[in-house]
Amino acid sequence: MPCEFMEIACWKQFPPFRIYSNLHHWIFPKPDIINPGKASTHPSVILFVLDSISQSNWKRYLPKTLGILKDLYNSTIFEGFTKVGDNSFPNAAAFLTGKRVQTVGYESEMASDMSDKFFDDWPIIWKDFKQKGYVTYYAEDYPEYNLFKYLSNGFKESPTDHYFRPFWLQLYGSFLHRRSTHLCYGNQKCHQIQMEYLKEFIEAYNQKSPIFALNWLTELGHDWLEQVSIGDLDISQFFKEQHKNLKDSFVIVFADHGHRFDPIRQSMIGRIEERMPFFSISIPENIRKKVPKLNEIIAENSKKLTSFWDLYITLKDILDLSTTNSWESLNSNAAQNVPHFRQYSPRGLSLLRSIPTKRNCLSAGIPEDFCICQRETQISVLDVRVQEAAKKVVIEVNRLLEPEMEQCSTLFLDKIEHAQTFLPNEKIAFDGNAGFYVMYRVALTVKPSNAFLEGTIRHLISDENDYTIIGDINRINKYGNQSNCVNIPLLRKYCFCKNYL
Ligand SMILES: [Zn+2]
Repeated sequence: MPCEFMEIACWKQFPPFRIYSNLHHWIFPKPDIINPGKASTHPSVILFVLDSISQSNWKRYLPKTLGILKDLYNSTIFEGFTKVGDNSFPNAAAFLTGKRVQTVGYESEMASDMSDKFFDDWPIIWKDFKQKGYVTYYAEDYPEYNLFKYLSNGFKESPTDHYFRPFWLQLYGSFLHRRSTHLCYGNQKCHQIQMEYLKEFIEAYNQKSPIFALNWLTELGHDWLEQVSIGDLDISQFFKEQHKNLKDSFVIVFADHGHRFDPIRQSMIGRIEERMPFFSISIPENIRKKVPKLNEIIAENSKKLTSFWDLYITLKDILDLSTTNSWESLNSNAAQNVPHFRQYSPRGLSLLRSIPTKRNCLSAGIPEDFCICQRETQISVLDVRVQEAAKKVVIEVNRLLEPEMEQCSTLFLDKIEHAQTFLPNEKIAFDGNAGFYVMYRVALTVKPSNAFLEGTIRHLISDENDYTIIGDINRINKYGNQSNCVNIPLLRKYCFCKNYL
């Protein structure tokens, strides 16, 4: 059995001393899983994700990559693409399973507490691709914070045919990594290591079998807004070199959300950026030729409100259209097959078919607190309704912390930083019995953690005491080690451990 990963070390005999150590990786194609017959009918699908990069930030710091995607891959950038959950996991779960999880204000559609369970039986989309004869790949750096591992147990068995996690675990635990410069392993750049592995994967199966890859790079963009620029040249070169192998594949390059705690997040622009990740699709050249109508559909859809729910349905649609070999049918009928798609997920439409012009956050499945469609107005922090709303946010956070009160300090309102008011969506703007509602968004700081919190509050105009928190209360500055004493993912951003007092 050939090994994909290998550690090579050399020792000096006397005095006994390790003088060299390095980790290596290869992809050995697995002959029993390739499907040469399907290579021409089923286009490969590459999901290339950079964590925490908004649409605007991609333009600022990844211009070379953006140029290659637009000019060489003919990629379309989706200008109205919106996240559906706060951090990586609920957004990833949306496009990988079509299920809503870890979203405040909504019932979780999968087990919400995974602290003593594994993810092996989750209906993740790579299983559908596998079932249709694709060879599958999943790689994600920064192993301590991986999607399926952060405060949970990950997978018992390797979830895909090629799985990079064992390599990263060994690398991040190594002495060489600890003494290397940030983002490096010895003289190699960490993002480059993972892109090398992806390159080996693509080249190993090129023309032999359809492939599905989820390649997620976290550390590069996660902590600082500007840092991702370090990878621009390497990522652009990767895509340039691989164009010959990927021109007939779906190449979907995107981010999960914008930056969540860089200082820009405390501004209004930063809040909109956080909700609008970069999202782009490149349609296979051979399908573009067969279905000229697709260019038009994709161009129109790129100007509409879209989200990760649509990506999930699009992936399902790619599998359906390939299986029935009916790509050309889109030329004459590009209508959404809604009843069919509802079997896959309660929400989402295919980005390969016409998205209705009249779409709002409610119909697109985007939670109210992540919606970017409202028209809002700044309001004074001295306004009595803003002050009530701010008090409500602090009470709510303390209520959420109640089960962990032994470890976590009570939080106190320090300062209201800014506030906006806007009208809610039509479903919650008016209640026939009670009357009209108005929304407030309040940003405030609390003691002792200096947490910068942002909450959305609904107020019933006819009742001065009626304030209700809508959705999640965001923490918009870094929390670092403040909450190490709690393991509940949703409380990590609020808790200030008493042992730091
Ligand atoms: Zn993320």
